Amino acid sequence: MNFNHTVRQIFSWTIQLSAQQDYQALTHNFLDILTKIPWIDSATAYEIYHHERKNPGETGTVRELLIRRFPLDFTRNDEQYHNNLFDGLDHSADLNLSVPDESGLYAWAIFSIKGGGGPQRAIHLKGAFRQEMLELLGNLREIYRNLVILHDTKERDVLTKLPNRQSLDARLLQVCGHYSDYQTIDKQAEKSSWIAILDIDHFKRVNDNFGHLYGDEVLLTFSQLMGKCFRYNDFLFRFGGEEFVVILNLASQATALAAFNRFREEIANYHFPTVGQVTVSIGLTHVNGISMPSTQLDNADKALYHAKDSGRNRVVLYEDMDVLVEDNDSGEIELF
Ligand code: GH3
Ligand code: MG
Ligand code: MG
Repeated sequence: MNFNHTVRQIFSWTIQLSAQQDYQALTHNFLDILTKIPWIDSATAYEIYHHERKNPGETGTVRELLIRRFPLDFTRNDEQYHNNLFDGLDHSADLNLSVPDESGLYAWAIFSIKGGGGPQRAIHLKGAFRQEMLELLGNLREIYRNLVILHDTKERDVLTKLPNRQSLDARLLQVCGHYSDYQTIDKQAEKSSWIAILDIDHFKRVNDNFGHLYGDEVLLTFSQLMGKCFRYNDFLFRFGGEEFVVILNLASQATALAAFNRFREEIANYHFPTVGQVTVSIGLTHVNGISMPSTQLDNADKALYHAKDSGRNRVVLYEDMDVLVEDNDSGEIELF
């Protein structure tokens, strides 16, 4: 490569990367660029979530990693495989490398990308590279990192760092698209997806009684409890205000109801500092590939409305509502 050619190539990559509209497109583009480099055989991106977990009967907490491959295939559970890949790495280092062979070539490298509102990211490269090639990649990684931080600012909520409403719209479209391709309409199937709206009960009172700052603290803790309770294949969002959304994947109707009830109980039993007890109402519906995503969200909202109306601190499934909303006076079904 001569100098002019190299400079042109680097500008071309930078222009491409900076033209991407969101984190998903940016990361696809970055992986594309990396795999076109002759000495790189494969490039894979990961998202790394750190959790503090407390074992029953123990006082201390255990640091737990949750590793997701990008883009997450929500129809599979590869959790164990990806955790093994990152086992034994130094997560505080920007770069982890294989042991070089006798001619000084490395067979793999893992770059960490930290900072911004989202989880830690990592890029796993396989190929045959020397130290000076890795320096070039280090600069490219810095450009990618700066852009990731910009996209996180746009796509994530400032307080909880969860993906925001805008990200939910894109994700729900993708999940519904999957089911329209596969026509999975069996609600009992273990591989179904469910969308739920979670709304904290009487949250206005929390603000009124303790102040906005304590209200914010509850929202932050609530989002962290969501992160611990829902797992690998699930998508979590802050919908706005004191409302959150979960897209639960790989679950039958019974599993989904059990998972949301478990979370509801976890919240009701949690002692929020100063504020004390808080409860949550949850409305959910089966995700399908037939109705508009906005209609499905609307149905989850109707189920939530019903949960609020029937006493709060409960989970209501939209598909059960025709049984639940029978109007006793007229004997007619109440249509929302
Ligand atoms: P319900 O059980 O019917 O859901 O009652 P609610 O009080 O939770 O619902 P309502 O919609 O009346 O009030 C929601 C409150 O959430 C109003 C607003 O002050 C508060 N809120 C919204 N966003 C935030 C935020 O970012 N931080 C804090 N502290 N409060 C917020
Ligand atoms: Mg609300
Ligand atoms: Mg509320």
